[in-house]
Amino acid sequence: MLIVQKFGGSSVADALRVGNVARRIGAAHEKGNKIVVVLSAQGDTTDDLLHKARELNSRASSRELDMLLSTGEQQSIALMAIALHGLGYPAVSLTGPQAGIHSSSSHGNARIKSIDTERITSELERNNIVIVAGFQGINRYGDVTTLGRGGSDTSAVALAAALHADLCEIYTDVEGVYTADPRIVPSAKKLDEISYDEMLELASLGAKVLATRSVEMAKKYQVNLIVRSSMSIAEGTLVKEEVNVENTYISGLAMDKNVASISVIGVMNKPGTAFKLFQTLSKEKISVDIILQSIGRDKTKDISFTVTKQDLPNAVRVLMANKTALGFDSLSFDDKIVKLSVVGAGMATNPGVASMLFEALYNGGINIMMISTSEIKISVLIDERDADNAANCVHTRFFSSAAAFSVAQQ
Ligand code: ASP
Ligand code: MG
Repeated sequence: MLIVQKFGGSSVADALRVGNVARRIGAAHEKGNKIVVVLSAQGDTTDDLLHKARELNSRASSRELDMLLSTGEQQSIALMAIALHGLGYPAVSLTGPQAGIHSSSSHGNARIKSIDTERITSELERNNIVIVAGFQGINRYGDVTTLGRGGSDTSAVALAAALHADLCEIYTDVEGVYTADPRIVPSAKKLDEISYDEMLELASLGAKVLATRSVEMAKKYQVNLIVRSSMSIAEGTLVKEEVNVENTYISGLAMDKNVASISVIGVMNKPGTAFKLFQTLSKEKISVDIILQSIGRDKTKDISFTVTKQDLPNAVRVLMANKTALGFDSLSFDDKIVKLSVVGAGMATNPGVASMLFEALYNGGINIMMISTSEIKISVLIDERDADNAANCVHTRFFSSAAAFSVAQQ
């Protein structure tokens, strides 16, 4: 089998862990598999490097930041190859550019465009374990780029797709994908499997276990993906196209703390109002998530929506600057909120799910500020002080066995 194994920063944080991971990689190679390993920078290296740059210049150029950040992964791969050699395994390390990973030119957030697999393939032919630096590529000017935070997942899935690997294993410090964040919801359970679509929703709604882009790519190229722990031999979670929907209709819940809401009060109740408002924001590259419009009173109505916390100051500034043109009375905002979402492919065919969610929140005495739904998810905005309580109430409602039974009955 050809297997791509990706190890995150915490899995290679120090010499002891690099050594353990090296033994694990070596064992997979000894079984006769061809192994391509993708590594992140050790521990907090990426953050430390960013900090060093900021000490010198708060507006470091994105090209130079990429030169700097890419060294984190380069250290990891060289150390891993050195460790593998020490154990007697044949191995070679390759940077993203050496591995033929071609990306778009946008520094700091480049996208993988193509992978020239010749070098990797020939190293595999020579029986080498190939260790590739994650999170990086080369652009058409020959400069090194990085793929955005958490980008090593994307490197791994892209390599698995390009090499037609039989399996892509993402090793991390938890045992797989959970029904909720176990640090907040102690009763959270590890899932045996989850569909690409559900994983995509969970990743983009704030579950940090896989980078969103890597899941998009896995779906597009139908990569066999598994998330598992580098510290244990537990089975992990399989991410794939179709999964058996068991008794519960929800795969998991996610919480996103990076949200803020803005309410624009008293805009004209006539065609074109929403268009002008959101056009003003999109010109500033501010993306808007949940939108709520009140029923109009005579001549006016209110429009509320959410943005990321980073975008909040800019959004407020640009709206106030255009107050007359947009014609609203006043504006208010709130950044002490979170977005709680439940995700599940079974929800499309199960009308009971929304009411179960609202019931759980009601029983917990939690007020809902906004609601948004799609085929496979329901999100609610709530006060950040309610966040942990809400997650636990909702999780219990959906995942205790009695709850599963009551959905199945509907
Ligand atoms: N080292 C990079 C980061 O910390 C990439 C990664 O870990 O996937 O974001
Ligand atoms: Mg990292």
